[in-house]
Amino acid sequence: MRELALLGATGSIGRQALDIVRAAPDRFRVRALTAHSNADALFALIREFRPSVAALCVRPDVIPDDLKGVDWYFGPDATVQAVRAAAPADVLSAVVGIAGLPAALESLKVSDRLLLANKEALVTGGSLVMNMARDLGKPIVPVDSEHSAIFQCLQGRGDNAPAALWLTASGGPFRTWTAREIENATPEMALGHPTWRMGPKITVDCAGMMNKGLEVIEAHHLFGMPLDQIRILVHPQSVIHSMVEFEDGAVLAQLGVPDMRVPIGYAMGYPDRVPFRGERLDLARIASLTFEEPDTARFPCLRLALEAQRAGGSTPVVLNAANEIAVGAFLNGRILFGGIARLVEATLSACPGGNIYSAEDVFEYDRQARAVAAELLKRL
Ligand code: NAD
Ligand code: MG
Repeated sequence: MRELALLGATGSIGRQALDIVRAAPDRFRVRALTAHSNADALFALIREFRPSVAALCVRPDVIPDDLKGVDWYFGPDATVQAVRAAAPADVLSAVVGIAGLPAALESLKVSDRLLLANKEALVTGGSLVMNMARDLGKPIVPVDSEHSAIFQCLQGRGDNAPAALWLTASGGPFRTWTAREIENATPEMALGHPTWRMGPKITVDCAGMMNKGLEVIEAHHLFGMPLDQIRILVHPQSVIHSMVEFEDGAVLAQLGVPDMRVPIGYAMGYPDRVPFRGERLDLARIASLTFEEPDTARFPCLRLALEAQRAGGSTPVVLNAANEIAVGAFLNGRILFGGIARLVEATLSACPGGNIYSAEDVFEYDRQARAVAAELLKRL
C-alpha cells in the first residue's frame, strides 16, 4: 500500500490518477488532495477518497459540515503546506505552470519520491529540482508520456550509454495548416487535439509545439542529456511515445495507446507495474506509423523554447512566464494564436538574462517577466 498526495487533483492528470486509485484501492491510499479554486469538484473527490489533508489556493465561502474534520490549507501557499502536513511516501504533482515549483521542491524534502507531471517546474527550476533530488537521494519518476517512455527505455540498459533521446510529437491540430491559418486560429480550433485529451494550457502549448520545446527542456534536466542529443520527431499517430538511441546502435521505443493512465500508472506503481484496464494497442488497425521533421518556421514557439534553453540562466523562466501570460490571453480571446509566439518573443527580447542561484531568483525573474509580458500585451 502506497500513500499518495495528489496535487492538482481536479485537473486532467489528477482525475486520471484517481481513476487508477479507484481501480486498485488495495495498492494506493490518498493522503492529500489539492486544487486551485474548484471547491465543489474538490469536495466531491474528498468525499470519495477520504484524504486527511486538503488544500485550495482560493478559500471557498464555506466548508461543508461533513468535511470540517479534514486538515485544510488555503491561500497561495496552501499546496506546499498540504505537502508538508501530509508528508506522504509519494507526491504526484499535476499542478499546471510554475505555480507547481514550490510544491515540487517541498515534496523532495518531505516525501520519498516525486511523480512529476508538472513540466513547468523543470522548465523554470530544473537545475534546482534535479540538484535537490540528487543531494537528498530522492527519485523523480516522470509522468509526461514522452519522458515516461524514455525512463522505461532506460531501464536495464547496463553500460550501454544513451547516444540520443528521440521525443515524438503528435504535431497537434495545426500540423498540416499553413502559417497564415495557424496565425489566425481561435481557441476553439486550438483546443481540438487529434490524439490526446488534456487541460487547456497544455492543449494550446501542443497546438503551437511550445509543448515539445518545454519537453526538450524537461528531458534535458530529467536525463542529464545535452540539448543537441535530444531530437524531435513528429509522429501523428501518437503510438511511439518516445525512443532512446544507444551507443551500440540499438534504438528502444515504448509504444502504447495514447492514454495518460498508462504513464501515470507506471509512475504510481514504479518499480511495480499496474494493470491497465483501457483499450489495448491494435497495430493492425492503425496499419502505418509515419514520421516527419518538425517545422520551426510554422511553429516558432518550438524555436523560441530551444533558443531559450541554449541561452540558459533566467531565459527559460522568462519564456515560461511569457507563455503562461500569452496562453491565458489567447484562451480569453484577447489575442489570436499567432500572438502567442509574438508576445513570447517580445518578452524574451525585453528581459535581460541573468543567473539563477536559488528558488527566490526563479520567482523574481518570473514576476518581472510576467509584468513585462502584461505590458507588451497591451500593445499587441
Ligand atoms: P489541468 O488544467 O487540467 O489541471 C491543473 C490542476 O492544477 C487543477 O487541479 C488545478 O486546480 C490545479 N492548479 C491550477 N493552478 C494552480 C495553482 N496556481 N496552484 C495550485 N494548483 C493549481 O492541467 P493538466 O492537463 O492536468 O496538466 C497538469 C500538468 O501536467 C501540466 O504541467 C501539464 O503540462 C502536465 N501534463 C499534462 C498532460 C495531460 O494529458 N493533461 C500530459 C503530460 C503532461
Ligand atoms: Mg508530453
